Amino acid sequence: MRIPDHILAQITDRLDMQAVVSEYVHLEKKGGRLWGLCPFHTEKTPSFTVDPDKSFFYCFGCQKGGSLFTFIMEMEKLSFVEAVQLLAEKAGVQIEVEEGDSRRRRAHLELYRRVSGTFHHLLLHHAEAQPARSYLERRGLIPDTWKTFALGYAPADRGWLYKFLREKKFSDEFLGSSGLFSGREQAALFRGRIVFPILNHRGEVVAFGGRSLDSSVQPKYLNSPESPVFRKRETLYGAPGVYQDVRREQSFILVEGYMDVLAFWQAGVRNSLAPLGTAVTPEQIRRLKRYASRGTLLFDADEAGIRAAERTILLCEQQDLSTEVIRLQRGKDPAEILEKEGAEALKKAIDSTINSFRFYLDAAYSKFDSRTPDGKRAVIRYLGSYLKSLDSQVKREGYIRLLAEDLGVDFESVRSDLLRGTERSRTRDDSQDRLEDQGISADLFFILAVAVNREYFQEVRNTVAVDDLEDARARKYFVALEECYRLGETTGQALLSRLEDESLRQLLLEKTASGEYAVNPERLIRDGMLEIRRRSLEKRRRSLESALIRAKDQDPARLKELLGEKMYLDEELQSLRKVVVDERPSE
Ligand SMILES: [Zn+2]
Repeated sequence: MRIPDHILAQITDRLDMQAVVSEYVHLEKKGGRLWGLCPFHTEKTPSFTVDPDKSFFYCFGCQKGGSLFTFIMEMEKLSFVEAVQLLAEKAGVQIEVEEGDSRRRRAHLELYRRVSGTFHHLLLHHAEAQPARSYLERRGLIPDTWKTFALGYAPADRGWLYKFLREKKFSDEFLGSSGLFSGREQAALFRGRIVFPILNHRGEVVAFGGRSLDSSVQPKYLNSPESPVFRKRETLYGAPGVYQDVRREQSFILVEGYMDVLAFWQAGVRNSLAPLGTAVTPEQIRRLKRYASRGTLLFDADEAGIRAAERTILLCEQQDLSTEVIRLQRGKDPAEILEKEGAEALKKAIDSTINSFRFYLDAAYSKFDSRTPDGKRAVIRYLGSYLKSLDSQVKREGYIRLLAEDLGVDFESVRSDLLRGTERSRTRDDSQDRLEDQGISADLFFILAVAVNREYFQEVRNTVAVDDLEDARARKYFVALEECYRLGETTGQALLSRLEDESLRQLLLEKTASGEYAVNPERLIRDGMLEIRRRSLEKRRRSLESALIRAKDQDPARLKELLGEKMYLDEELQSLRKVVVDERPSE
C-alpha cells in the first residue's frame, strides 16, 4: 500500500516531532538544535539529534537517521505503513486503509497462534507423538527447550485439523486461504511432522516449518506458504525475543537450520537465528542490521556450506556488518555437537572464530596453489569481491596489506590488480561507488545544499539541468528532487524514499543534521548554481570552438550558425561574471 505524500505531510505538520521523540529519548536544546542519547546505539554523550522543522533525526555516532516515520518504525519495530498508521492516529489524521485487511490479518495471526498451541499440546501429550518426542530426545533436546520454542506435532490424519478448526467456528473460506491446508479436500499441509512455529520480529506466529519423521516422506522440511503476514525472504527462525537478545549482545549468530538454533539455545546461546531452508537473503541481513553491528556465521564445512558462508559474508559486509566465521570440525553441525558432546562443548565452539578475511583467504588457498605466480593472481582475484564489498576503506587497505604479505608480493601490485577489477565493475554500476572514496565534489556540495533547503529547488531547476551536473551522485539527488517537485511532494520522507542508494540517503540526513547548509543557504545555492551554469556553458563553448575550426573552410552556413551560438554563449558567460562581480561588494 502506498500512502500519498499529502497525507504524510498532514501528519508531520500536525505532530510536534520534539514531543513524539521525547516519548522515547530525553532531548535537550543546544545550539538551536535538539540533542539526546541515541536509542540505537550505546553512548554516554549525546550524538543523536532531531530537526523538528524538517522532521528528521540523525545520529552522528551510528549514522542512523530518517524521518519521523522511520524513527517510529525503528523504535516500535513496525513496517512503514504501520508506523504511519500509528502516527496518523496520534495526529488525528484519517487514512484510508482497507479496514478489512487489518481485521483479516489479525484473524490470521490469531488462527496461527491457536494452531501453534494445539500442535504444542499434541507434542507433549498425545500418544501418536511418541516418535516425535523420541526424536527430539535423541537429538539431545530437553522438554524445556521444546516449550520455549513451542515445538509441536501435527497429526498424520489429513482431515483432523480442518475438522477441529471448523468445530471452533472458523469459516470454510477463511480456512481455505489460511495456508494450513492444500487441495480441494482441505488436507492438512503438515502431517505427521514435528512443527516449528516461525515468529516474526514481534514474536507473533506467522508460519510453520515442519520436519518429517519418516525418511520416506519428502520433503524433509516443509514451510508454510507466503502470506500477507509471512514473507520468507524477510523472516528468520529464532527463539521468542531473539531480536532483543541480538540487540543486547549487539551481535547475532547465523546458523543453517532450526535444529542448530535449538541446540545453541540449550547451550545458553540466545542470539542465534537461521534462514528458512534457503540461502540467506539481503532482506534478512537488513533486518539483523537494525539490531546489531556484527555477526558470526556458522555453516557446514562442506563445499556448499563454504559457498553459503562466502555469500553471506558479502551480504553482511556490503551493509557494513562485520562478520566472523565459526569453524567446526569437518562434517559436524551444532545440533550434532550438542547431541554427542553436550552443551559445554557447543558453547566452547563459538569461541573458535576466524574473521571473514581469513575465512576467504583459507578458501582461496584450498583452491589455488599460492606458490606459483598464477596461483597468487588467482588468490587475489578470488578475494576481489570480498575486498570490494568492504564498506571501510581503512579496513580494505589493511587487508590488502595482509594479503600482500601473506602472498609475498608487494602491496601496490596487489592493489593495482584489484583496482583493475574495480574499474570494470564501476562502469557497470556507479551506484556501488563509495562516498568516502570520492569525497564531496562541488556538484555534490551544491545539490546537498539544495536538498537540505528544498524551497530553492524551483529556482535551481530554472537555471541548472540535470545534465549540467558531472557528479553521478549529484545527478541522482537532482532527479529525486525533480520527481518530488513535479508530484508536489514536500516531505523529507518523500525525498528519502526516492533515493535508492542507502549511502545517498545517509549523506543527506547527515548534512541536514550537521546544520552546515543552514547558514546563508541562499548564498551557497546561488553561487553553486552560477558556477555550474558557467562550467556547462564553457564546456559547450570549448566543443563549439573545435566545431568552428572544422567548419571554417567547408560549410559557410554551418559556420554562421555556430558563430551565432558562440556569441550567445559569450554573452551568457559575460552576464554570469557580472552577477558574481555585482554581488561581491554586498558581502
Ligand atoms: Zn546512534
